[in-house]
Amino acid sequence: MVIKTRLTKRAIVQKFAEGVIRGDRVVLSRAITLIESSRTNDRSIAEDLIEKLLPHTGKSVRIGVTGAPGAGKSTFIEVFGKYITSVHKKLAVLAIDPSSQKTKGSILGDKTRMEELSRDPRAFIRPTPTGDSLGGVAHATRETMLLCEAAGYDVVLIETVGVGQSEVAVRGMVDFFLLLMLAGAGDELQGIKKGIMEMADGIAITKADGENVKKATQAQADFQHALHWLQPAESGWAPKVLTLSALSHTGIMEIWKMIEEYEQCVRSSGSFDRQRRHQKIAWFHESFDALIKKKVLSKSKSTLATFEKKVLANLLSPDKAAKQLMKKLMD
Ligand code: GDP
Repeated sequence: MVIKTRLTKRAIVQKFAEGVIRGDRVVLSRAITLIESSRTNDRSIAEDLIEKLLPHTGKSVRIGVTGAPGAGKSTFIEVFGKYITSVHKKLAVLAIDPSSQKTKGSILGDKTRMEELSRDPRAFIRPTPTGDSLGGVAHATRETMLLCEAAGYDVVLIETVGVGQSEVAVRGMVDFFLLLMLAGAGDELQGIKKGIMEMADGIAITKADGENVKKATQAQADFQHALHWLQPAESGWAPKVLTLSALSHTGIMEIWKMIEEYEQCVRSSGSFDRQRRHQKIAWFHESFDALIKKKVLSKSKSTLATFEKKVLANLLSPDKAAKQLMKKLMD
């Protein structure tokens, strides 16, 4: 009986793997659903599937795109995506939308987004995965990216709203991180921008058309100037600032050229592989940390609650409480 179950599972994994490698979009979609599932059975199949597909992964260019709501991300991705498919490349677009977890509504999940691109046979757009934690969503996105690579997508684009922690997670899974900025959006966003700016390999000032051209060009100069003050990256790449208009289709090809130039630069300096290796190990550590925490906490919920009470009552400092809890668990 046990053998039968194992064979069945193996057969399921095999079928999924064959379909994904064949580039079958229906199978790919089902495999992603499997990955997003939290059911133990699904997880177990998903893990085996990822393992089986690993030798077929890693060949795409992984691009992260971020920007505040309204910066023009979806309009840009639609036009940029059409450009990429027009040069005979297959493109997968994935999205991380932190808003959907809290509000059940979604900044990114709007059905009318990227309508034209979604009809393109060379493009695959996966709506936002939902999850109960950013860690879970990021994990699913990472695995989805690997599935898309195994399915033969040359470019994987991961979109995230630049309002929270999700861009840090995305930065940790892509090769090139592109920040979309609106010219003159106000100083109140500068705090967020600075942190994100430091992670960007390229910045694009969006909506550089009509009356906006002048403002956009000025913003380009300002940002380029600001970037000079940041530490030069070890990779040998100096982040660039460009302007674009998705509406009048200008500056789009230049973004792709910048990414190609970046890839050439970091491949020859060795930092492309270094970054990927680093990301892989970080993923392993993250996964391990999460497992340890889950396992330990599941066994010691009441002990944890006791320590929380002591911390709240000022009987123990948080650091000391953590140390004592650890000691208790290790004994
Ligand atoms: P997102 O929230 O970052 O995905 O932004 P959207 O792509 O939905 O764009 C927000 C608004 O800006 C929409 O009304 C778009 O029509 C408009 N928009 C997007 N790109 C451009 C552009 O290149 N030029 C102009 N003038 N408007 C744009």
